[in-house]
Amino acid sequence: MDKTSKNLFNNTKLAFTNKSNLQLKKAFFLFSVLDYPVLTKLGNSFLLLVLKLNLPFKGIIKKTIFNHFCGGETIEECDDTFKSLNKYNISAMPEYSVEAESTLEGFENYKNDSIEIINYLGNLKLPFIAIKCTGLMDISSLEKISVGELNEDSDEYKSFFKRVDELCRVGEKNNVKILIDAEESWIQDSIDRVGLEMMRKYNKNSANVFITHQCYRTGTLDKIKDYLEIANKEKFYLGVKLVRGAYMEKERKRALDNNYPSPIHDTKENTDKEFNNSLLFCVKNIQKLSLWVGSHNEDSCLKLMEMMKKNKIKKEDDRIWFSQLYGMSDNISYSLSSLEYNVVKLIPFGPIEKTIPYLIRRANENSSVQGQSNRQFTLIKDEISRRNKLN
Ligand SMILES: Cc1cc2nc3c(=O)[nH]c(=O)nc-3n(C[C@H](O)[C@H](O)[C@H](O)COP(=O)(O)OP(=O)(O)OC[C@H]3O[C@@H](n4cnc5c(N)ncnc54)[C@H](O)[C@@H]3O)c2cc1C
Repeated sequence: MDKTSKNLFNNTKLAFTNKSNLQLKKAFFLFSVLDYPVLTKLGNSFLLLVLKLNLPFKGIIKKTIFNHFCGGETIEECDDTFKSLNKYNISAMPEYSVEAESTLEGFENYKNDSIEIINYLGNLKLPFIAIKCTGLMDISSLEKISVGELNEDSDEYKSFFKRVDELCRVGEKNNVKILIDAEESWIQDSIDRVGLEMMRKYNKNSANVFITHQCYRTGTLDKIKDYLEIANKEKFYLGVKLVRGAYMEKERKRALDNNYPSPIHDTKENTDKEFNNSLLFCVKNIQKLSLWVGSHNEDSCLKLMEMMKKNKIKKEDDRIWFSQLYGMSDNISYSLSSLEYNVVKLIPFGPIEKTIPYLIRRANENSSVQGQSNRQFTLIKDEISRRNKLN
């Protein structure tokens, strides 16, 4: 990364502009804990215990890790967060963070809650919602579809398809685009299959439905190319959400345990190559697709900015969006939005008990994506020291 670029993402005054001194101190405390794997493990065990024994620690969790990484317990509670981001031209994409459902009642509840959220977002003119297919069908059935053990003509699959379709239809009506999360490789085929059908149906005039592509998987760019070929042939627009991928350790372990080749690139360099090549391919084909990039990697964001410039794409072109998680990499989000790029924060929300598994994953991801965690911690310390010098 060159010096100018480094400077761009080093502006802590801008990055933490909407954080009070107290909020910064809390973030400092939180990232000090996340900085020590032993403490993170202890914290995880504490959260699991709270979940299992229903212990009365909701208040502490809410005031600390929950408030840092989540928008609220209900969509209405996220309003203040939406407003504070909106002041800096940053959009918000809420994600109802409940873990995988396993009963028909659970799937219907997830669908109905998502419909309510989409209607709410439509009124606020917020353009995106993230959904998880594991909220709409159980993992074992998604796996069976992926490996061809469950037929697409089965009642189970049809009702899953209908639930996804209903969300996309309500999304289209409300001008809210549906971003379908990518999950584990062994269920991803069935997620892609339903996503492709939805793009066929709802992306005739522009991308209203997006499939997520994980670049840590080998062959991702080829897959995007195949999809674009289908989209061109059948005349619809492609919605591409590009990420590196969140389940690396789990994927590798499963492949090893079950004696099949890991679907994940061998090295970080190869994942980065897949990511950068996919970015470039999408930018070059922007007439036929929309690109939504979820990454905290400063270098990748800079690369995308350069590619847009080279290909004469305006910063505010609404076919390209940069996104970071709420509570992470504000230095990227606030800098990009101040330069007029489209930025959206992904904001998890939901009842505390239900978001605990998500928070544990965040804590674990912070320890496995140690570089990002350290970077966040350094920025927080820099900003505290900058403010102290002013007093
Ligand atoms: C807004 C947003 C939405 C997201 N949505 C999803 C989603 O739907 N599905 C999903 O799976 N993830 C999702 N993620 C998580 C994402 O996939 C990454 O895990 C996370 O963002 C870290 O990648 P990075 O590009 O930010 O940073 P980096 O620090 O540059 O990359 C870290 C990532 O590189 C890869 N990696 C690290 N080491 C190696 C190695 N040795 N070999 C090969 N690859 C390696 C892993 O994917 C790791 O997570 C999302 C992230 C964001 C910000």
